[in-house]
Amino acid sequence: MREGSQEKQWRERAAVVMPGGMYGHQSTRLLPEDYPQFFSRAKGARLWDADGRELIDFMCAYGPNLLGYGDPAIDGAFMSQLAVGDTMTGPSPLIVELAERLVGLVTHANWALFCKNGGDATQMALMIARAHTKRSTVIFAKGAYHGAHPWCPTRSAGVTPGDKAHQIFCDYNDVASLEAAVAQAGDDLAAIFATPLKHDAFVDQALAEGDYARRARELCDDMGALLVVDDVRAGLRVARDCSWSKLGVEPDLSSWGKCLANGHAISALLGSDKARRAASAIYATGSFWFQAAPMAAALETLSRVTDTDYLEHMERLGISLRTGLAARARAAGLGFRQTGPLTMPLFLFEDDPDLRLGFAWCSQMLARGVYTHPWHNMFLCAAMTAEDIEMTLDAAEDSFRAIKTGRRVLEPNAKMSFLLA
Ligand SMILES: *Cc1c(COP(=O)(O)O)cnc(C)c1O
Repeated sequence: MREGSQEKQWRERAAVVMPGGMYGHQSTRLLPEDYPQFFSRAKGARLWDADGRELIDFMCAYGPNLLGYGDPAIDGAFMSQLAVGDTMTGPSPLIVELAERLVGLVTHANWALFCKNGGDATQMALMIARAHTKRSTVIFAKGAYHGAHPWCPTRSAGVTPGDKAHQIFCDYNDVASLEAAVAQAGDDLAAIFATPLKHDAFVDQALAEGDYARRARELCDDMGALLVVDDVRAGLRVARDCSWSKLGVEPDLSSWGKCLANGHAISALLGSDKARRAASAIYATGSFWFQAAPMAAALETLSRVTDTDYLEHMERLGISLRTGLAARARAAGLGFRQTGPLTMPLFLFEDDPDLRLGFAWCSQMLARGVYTHPWHNMFLCAAMTAEDIEMTLDAAEDSFRAIKTGRRVLEPNAKMSFLLA
């Protein structure tokens, strides 16, 4: 960190008034040393850090930025609604319009509930499945992320065994492991929770296999349990419907968030008629869940989803990026794996158990104005252009060359070695 940089000063001040200096996935604790913790501005596909450095952003706020930061039409809809009423004693009629729009867009959905974070939506899915079945046990895939609530499979500090009771884990895309988990749950199975693809941190991504998704549907039907697809991260980035619609599999419940309003605070749980009674029975609410301005932004976002080729545009850019990176890594003689959907790539180097190469490459990219991530899936946004991809590929070529030359002198990656050991 440069002496006298704004970043350094903000970090020092944060360390005094914020535990650990920063918390959650936005902390740079597990990123290369030179990664900025603070950002001052964002527009389109670009970010500016606290020192004013401009970056092409392949994290897209960890998902929310779908169509470009500061999109004039979406932010305009938000601000117009803000001027007439946002947090009120009850919702605006926009809540009905938004529910109708989502029910029209998402095949399995007959109703919608709105909340703020993806975790709110997944938690409601959990409660509804238990209310519907009057059972407790839920099956998750090992390593899958569903939010930061104590029942979610994350870190253990502050979490009791009771918080994690009634959970069984299976391996993603492994039908036999899923069947074994269902057998273990026996007559207490309330739900199978699935991410639409394997988008776990630190490992190669994997698309869901049709056999696995269809078997999950069948097992839920056989057992009278509910199938939940957690589309909080991938929703609207792989399909204009629930992501598993591409496999012909319709869940009972799907959770949405992140890019639903292109960065404005709203998430949703969508469900089928089967789960309607249970959905009206649970107690779930929040002081800010009924804000009208994010709903106006969501309606505008959904209009762009249905009326433009935003998805095909991102996929075309994703192909250029993937083929361009593969060629440049090969030319540099580096084994470089790119996994996940075109619009949500993750990069890992071969022979890089402590991610020292990945960290070094990301640092080189950052120095050339491109923000990438060494172990979490990234995101493309529709505001990116062919020129952005060209600039990224130029930066990548130089960055591959730099780490190839320097690889023998790279230090062990202390930030990662304990975690990945
Ligand atoms: C981010 C995420 C969540 C949690 O969403 P928050 O808005 O952070 O609460 C849940 N599920 C998946 C798959 C996610 O990626």
